[in-house]
Amino acid sequence: MPGPGTSLPPNIITDKKTVAAMVRIYCHDHHGTFRRTLCEACAGLLEYADDRLDKCPFEEEKTTCRDCPIHCYRAAERATMKDVMRYAGPRMLLKHPLLAIRHLWMERKGAPPWPPVRRRRSR
Ligand code: SF4
Ligand SMILES: [Zn+2]
Repeated sequence: MPGPGTSLPPNIITDKKTVAAMVRIYCHDHHGTFRRTLCEACAGLLEYADDRLDKCPFEEEKTTCRDCPIHCYRAAERATMKDVMRYAGPRMLLKHPLLAIRHLWMERKGAPPWPPVRRRRSR
């Protein structure tokens, strides 16, 4: 199992970029931040999301969290992230079209294979 920040599968690295871009769009428009800065709350949310991605048991088979059968987020972070996605989703197409299209494609793939690849490997 990859440790945080080491040998992460490429899809998880791209997911990290996508979530960071989405949190930035949300924070800039709601909390008056700009460029690569974030307010404390959004920085905390992004750190939490990054940590979830580091530990995601679907690894290279992960699709989108929306269709995840586990939903590893705590309730509060999950609710805030839903707001972030709802707001930033449509705006991503203009600002980060490649990440946005990839995200939509991942959503079309639906839930990842079950059981998660990390559990299959550890049998
Ligand atoms: S919600 Fe599911 S897909 Fe998203 S990081 Fe957590 S376990 Fe992985
Ligand atoms: Zn913010």
